This record gives sequence, structure tokens and C-alpha cells, in this order.
Amino acid sequence: MKKFKSKLKIFNNIKKEEIRSANKVLRTGVLSGFMGSIEKGSEDKYFGGEFVNKLEKNWSKFYNVKHAISVNSWTSGLTVAIGSLNIEPGDEIIVSPWTMCATATSILQWNAIPVFADIEEDTFCLDPKKVIKLINKKTKAILTVDIFGQNSNFDALKSICKKYKIKLIADSAQSPFSFYKKKFVNDYADIAGFSLNTHKHIQTGEGGILVTNNDFLAKRMKMLRNHGEAIVNNKNLLPNMLGGNFRMNEIEAAIAIEQLKKLKKIVTKIQKNTNSLNKELSKLYGLIVPKVRKNCTHSYYINALRINEKYTKVKRDIIFKELQKEGINFIFKGYQLLHLLPMYQNKIAYGSKGFPWANFNKKVSYKKGICPISEKLDKEIICMEMCFYDFNKENIKEIINKFTNVWKKLKIKKLR
Ligand SMILES: *Cc1c(COP(=O)(O)O)cnc(C)c1O
Repeated sequence: MKKFKSKLKIFNNIKKEEIRSANKVLRTGVLSGFMGSIEKGSEDKYFGGEFVNKLEKNWSKFYNVKHAISVNSWTSGLTVAIGSLNIEPGDEIIVSPWTMCATATSILQWNAIPVFADIEEDTFCLDPKKVIKLINKKTKAILTVDIFGQNSNFDALKSICKKYKIKLIADSAQSPFSFYKKKFVNDYADIAGFSLNTHKHIQTGEGGILVTNNDFLAKRMKMLRNHGEAIVNNKNLLPNMLGGNFRMNEIEAAIAIEQLKKLKKIVTKIQKNTNSLNKELSKLYGLIVPKVRKNCTHSYYINALRINEKYTKVKRDIIFKELQKEGINFIFKGYQLLHLLPMYQNKIAYGSKGFPWANFNKKVSYKKGICPISEKLDKEIICMEMCFYDFNKENIKEIINKFTNVWKKLKIKKLR
């Protein structure tokens, strides 16, 4: 494998600001401010400590949203979001198959049934036209994924939700600073949220943030985060909540406070890099760069490059191997297709008797072919991780050269 001549720097935004902030917490000795009970005198502590509260305040100001609720991972966040809807076992939630596994398992955590709808070919997000066809009396929500850094088709999804009186949840883990018509995700989705795991644009190691403008759902989510109904002595107005410990600690919150301040700068730099890269890559015959929705922005967590073999006359997998040989080690082939995972193929979430499908919903199909666009795109794309290195201008130039070399070597026709 060839090396880069221009030095590649590992992407790392943890600098002196984060270290100082985390140290502030360490010096106090109070590493979590949460208490798991609502007793007289400790009511405030039920909602976390000083840094958790400051983070949530800063986050809601930044995103212009009523409630920001921190959790210990975005996987926890998704579980809390679905739990707050108070759905029945066997209810259906329509979800994208083109995402990380946690998106759909959050539905199964509540014994509800994920129903996979296909995606739009040019954005990789849920296709509203496919979603509509799957709605029935059991459908309680749409869980869309703002995948790779771009928001879903919120205008269309929102109007579907309004018509059928169901909720819109957005998994915005990969799109923390993306605009849909000049607004953030929380202006469209009933509940949305972000991941702060170590691979994302900004991080706290592990962590996540939920956002909502809905007071009732916010209240429920804060309860679910901290043991829910198990700690409430009767007379509560928010019933049926199997809570857990999904609380963020003070060190993570202190780091997140500093990371949030850097978010805009981080995303803007990645956008600049990706735009100058894609401007050149789009000239390569048979390579299709991501399309950005009109009046929207893209955070480019992943730069998804489509290889159209009809034009290249060379297989995607061969191009991929050659790119790797050139030293491009921040790419992978295809993406996760959830409906084809063994759990869905076997329809067993836990136990051995096919729960929850056998009990509630035998009909839902996870057969190969139910999401043809996803299945086709999986064979076409090469994903480039834009948060893998802290790319500079020279790196970008070199990536362009390496791509051009591969196209030359494989004798793929050049457009211009
Ligand atoms: C990262 C990610 C998650 C999970 O987030 P964690 O914080 O790692 O639990 C969920 N959905 C998508 C689309 C993600 O990229």
C-alpha cells in the first residue's frame, strides 16, 4: 500500500479546552450529579448535576429548541425516544433499513415492530412515497435517519405524519449541523437527537442528546432516562414507563460543553474539504458524488461515492481495491442493510420462540427485495469517512490525484 506524501493527521478535537473542562469536574470529586429518586430535598438532583444542566441549556440555545436531554449514548437516546411514545407491543414503526443497527433495535426494545421502507436513490434517506404505502392502523411513528450528514425529506414526511396523526422521530446521529431549509432537525421532528460517540463530528467518548419542543414527551424522556416509574410512588401523571439508567456523567457533559462550541467550525471545514474533493471527483467517468437537497446543507459524516459499473466497465470492488492500494484507508464498501440481518431474517429478538413477531405480527416481511433501491446502492457505493483524518488542502489534492491514477490505471474513460 502506498503512503500519502502530505502528512495525514488523525481527526482529534479533544484539546486543552476539553481537558480543562474535564479537570474542573475531577477536582470536585462529584463525577455524576444524578440521583435516582425523587425525594423531598433532592428533586433537582433527579435531573442531573451542574455540568449536565449547563450542557442541556447550551444545547437547547444553540439548536433553538425547548428541551435538550443528555443521555449516555445515542442508542440509549433512541430507546428513550421510542419509549416516550407509550406505544403498545406489536405496534409498527416505519424505519429506514439503510442505517446503523441501533436505529431499529430501539423499536424492538419496546416489543414494537420495525417496518422497513426503502430509501431515495440520491440522498439515501427514507423515501416518503415508499413510507405512505406501509402505513396502517398499527403504525405509530416514522423513524427517519438523516444518514451520512444530510436531513431527510422533512416536508413530505411531516405532512404524512400530520395526515395520519403519527409521530416523526429523526435519528440525526450523523448530521449534527445540517440545515433543512435554514432550520435544524428539531423544527421538523417531534423528537430528534445526536450521537456523541468517539467517531462522530463532536464527541464525549460515549454520549447522546435528545431534542424536542414537546413538553410532555420531554418529561417522559427525562423520567425514562432515570429509572422511570420504578422510582415514583403512585399518583404520577406519566404512566407506563420502564426506565433505565441512561444518564450522562459530569465529565462527559463538561467535555460536550466545549465540543458544542467547536461544532460549526468542524462541520464547515469538512464541508469545504468535501466540496473541493467532489468537484474534481465528479469529473471521473462513472463516479457519482452525493447530491445535496435544494436549500439544505450536508455535514458529510460520510462522503458516499456511487460507482456506476455500466459506465466504468470495471467492477466497484476492483476500483475499491485499487484505491486501497493507493493508500486510501478511510473508505469502505456498501452500507448496512438492516432487514437482511439474521435477527430480522429469523424473526427472533430474544428467547427462542420468535418474540415479538410470532406474538404480534407474523406478516411483516424482511425478504430480500423489499427495499430494492437500498439493495442496489449497497453494491454501488464506496463510503469515505470524512471524520477519520483532519484533512488539509494538500491531503485533498492528493486524494484527487490518487483517484485519477486509479481511473487511468484501470483505463476508465475520462469525462473531461
Ligand atoms: C452512531 C449512530 C448511532 C448510535 O449512536 P451511539 O452514540 O454510538 O450509540 C445511531 N444511529 C446512527 C445513524 C449512527 O450513526
